[in-house]
Amino acid sequence: MTWYNNLPVVKGRYQPNALLSQHTWFQVGGPAELLFRPHSTQDLAVFLQSKPADIPVTIIGAGSNVLVRDVGISGVVIRLGRDFADVFIDGPSVIIGAAALDRTVALTCADAGLSGLEFLVGVPGTIGGAVKMNAGCYNQEVKDVLRWVEVMDHQGSVTRLSNAELGFSYRHSALSADQIVIRACFDLQTENTTVIHQRLTQLLAEREKSQPIRGRTGGSTFKNPPGQKAWILIDQAGGRGAKIGDAQVSEKHCNFLLNLGAAQAKDLESLGEQIRQRVLETSGVLLEWEIIRLG
Ligand SMILES: Cc1cc2nc3c(=O)[nH]c(=O)nc-3n(C[C@H](O)[C@H](O)[C@H](O)COP(=O)(O)OP(=O)(O)OC[C@H]3O[C@@H](n4cnc5c(N)ncnc54)[C@H](O)[C@@H]3O)c2cc1C
Repeated sequence: MTWYNNLPVVKGRYQPNALLSQHTWFQVGGPAELLFRPHSTQDLAVFLQSKPADIPVTIIGAGSNVLVRDVGISGVVIRLGRDFADVFIDGPSVIIGAAALDRTVALTCADAGLSGLEFLVGVPGTIGGAVKMNAGCYNQEVKDVLRWVEVMDHQGSVTRLSNAELGFSYRHSALSADQIVIRACFDLQTENTTVIHQRLTQLLAEREKSQPIRGRTGGSTFKNPPGQKAWILIDQAGGRGAKIGDAQVSEKHCNFLLNLGAAQAKDLESLGEQIRQRVLETSGVLLEWEIIRLG
């Protein structure tokens, strides 16, 4: 008898021993002891209130910024599904469910003639992940447009937090591991739809040119150190194209790691650590992981 045989009845889905490689961009990593996909906010609250208190909870979004280790993740992994993906346009504000995909959000806002979230069009995550990571690119980030966020804690209580309470900095929010983003509100500006769509097309083209966006990757591996670019430091350290097994530093953008097919999480993590060491030796800078390693 394992702990998950006594869980509350929910409308969502429990999946023991669920392969997380099917839920992450790197397509590596061991299983979740239990994957839970809640049906609604209420369902999530019931689950959190009734699960054994000592069982760890991990939330993932689209898995585009995580590296799940080969041992997998013990306890429960929560993944919000389409019931958490509504986009509600309310004048120049928009309220978006945490599971909405960034690209869908950018396109929906553009269709509604609302500007401000275009930068998300090429970020392959969800709004929950974007808030947690303060996702950004092309000199814009979530903190520039977010008004508030609603989070559920591990007791099932929902709290609304303002932008100022989120402690945003570069690829960081002060949200703790037990705060699950449920939905977020953004303040946007009205603009001509065609002009916004042109901007989206341009942003996607720029990204296609410079990043291996069709590969099995986790996006930027390391944060840019203040005033410097991680990819330049990696290039100067001779890291471009470096490999361990099927894990490779992208030739196209050397702050991206790639799973060429049969890499394991340990290959990707070892390669990342090797690159950090090389950069430290050549430039004296210790790179900080941007990718969240789980398990
Ligand atoms: C090809 C590619 C390009 C990328 N380009 C960019 C870029 O330009 N800019 C950028 O900032 N990032 C980029 N990324 C990284 C990634 O897409 C972003 O960090 C994204 O915001 C992560 O969202 P996610 O839903 O995939 O989160 P995940 O990767 O699943 O999780 C990331 C973190 O967020 C937490 N999290 C996820 N959902 C929730 C939630 N509902 N509540 C609380 N915490 C949550 C997780 O616990 C984890 O700590 C890129 C990644 C790839 C693969």
